[in-house]
Amino acid sequence: MNLRSKLFFERAKKSIPGGVNSPVRACKAVKSDPVFFERGEGPYLIDADGNRYIDYVGSWGPLILGHAHPNVVAEVYFASKRGTSFGAPTWLEVEMAELLKTCIPSLELVRLVNSGTEATMSALRLARAYTGRKKIVKFDGCYHGHVDSLLVKAGSGLATFGIPASPGIPEELTNHTISLPFNDFDAVKSAFEKFGQEIACVILEPVPANMGVIIPKEGFLIFLREITAKYGALLIFDEVITGFRLGPGGAQEKFGIKPDLTCLGKIIGGGLPVGAYGGKREIMSLVAPEGPVYQAGTLSGNPIAVSAGLATIRELLKPGAYEKLESLSQRLELGLKEVLRDLNLPYKVTRFCSMLTLFFTDKEVTDFQSALTCDTDKFALFWQGMLKRGIYLPPSQFEAWFVSLAHKVEDIDRTVECAREVLRELG
Ligand SMILES: *Cc1c(COP(=O)(O)O)cnc(C)c1O
Repeated sequence: MNLRSKLFFERAKKSIPGGVNSPVRACKAVKSDPVFFERGEGPYLIDADGNRYIDYVGSWGPLILGHAHPNVVAEVYFASKRGTSFGAPTWLEVEMAELLKTCIPSLELVRLVNSGTEATMSALRLARAYTGRKKIVKFDGCYHGHVDSLLVKAGSGLATFGIPASPGIPEELTNHTISLPFNDFDAVKSAFEKFGQEIACVILEPVPANMGVIIPKEGFLIFLREITAKYGALLIFDEVITGFRLGPGGAQEKFGIKPDLTCLGKIIGGGLPVGAYGGKREIMSLVAPEGPVYQAGTLSGNPIAVSAGLATIRELLKPGAYEKLESLSQRLELGLKEVLRDLNLPYKVTRFCSMLTLFFTDKEVTDFQSALTCDTDKFALFWQGMLKRGIYLPPSQFEAWFVSLAHKVEDIDRTVECAREVLRELG
């Protein structure tokens, strides 16, 4: 059934570390070999052996319109005909910056980069330069790309201070990183009481989706806004996933909070490499060439990538787009919850807008520690069972399923029915 995928993977492992260019793709967490894809069409993926799947990975978030949306494809085609890269400004970049500012008013100035990682890395550098401080606060289980200072082990229990999660990152660097449990008001308060004058910024996914979907507790985001302001630290919203996923204005619009800096990626590139960071003019003015904080990129603001992003955002701004996403996502959530109820299973479904996770635990999942109570072996079997039935889910318990505008009601219903079959077998 997956003969060509298996063959390709054997070959890939001889030339690429682990056979993949990004670790989760290897499907190790679900005890499987990866599927090699050849094509995407709307909500579907077609693999190298010709099997078709309903896709909930959506390239890990960017493909909110589904695969190969005609307008995105057309814009990419026309842009590439005009030249692939100039290393000089284009009008498209201005259009993108203006569109981002209109949708997300906290962006007074915005700089385009090539990935979410570049966005968070640059935002941290800027926050440290602006405040003249070294320490940063992040949250266990939040992911901000593979930035050295942000790859700090998600600690269990209370705060974990500066233990490198990856070899190759000097302690001198991670010593400045404080990682705290998400949703934990007291932990944040104590960290500020202890290190307040040294903390440059708090960076977080306002609605975390990289430990599975976690909903911020009532008042948590406002509390972070207030405590950072009180101590003169910057608040950085990493909206690489939530930007244009929760609505045109991202999480900051949903929760009515104005961060100092915002990081974007994924959807704003429409499946091509684009990231962005921006915020208060006073802070962003420090970025070179206006200011001394250096940050650059040969391909930054690439015209093809920006065209794909613009086409995607314009589609999302059409009336009814987010309502449709909400209704499809709600259908998936309610369907899965009904299956769990019918089969008398204690697992938890958490959804926020079009991001959803089925947690294989009977505990409420509110932070990384509670997410870790999940039965990942059972999740692996579930993933395999769904794949066999033509449903492609993120190959990890700690990721979000993404619903797209290309999904049809029938796709959602088929997904729920498959989940019923698999969960009935597994228990
Ligand atoms: C994906 C992601 C990143 C990193 O983006 P890349 O484009 O993979 O470098 C950063 N932050 C969050 C919240 C993400 O989900």
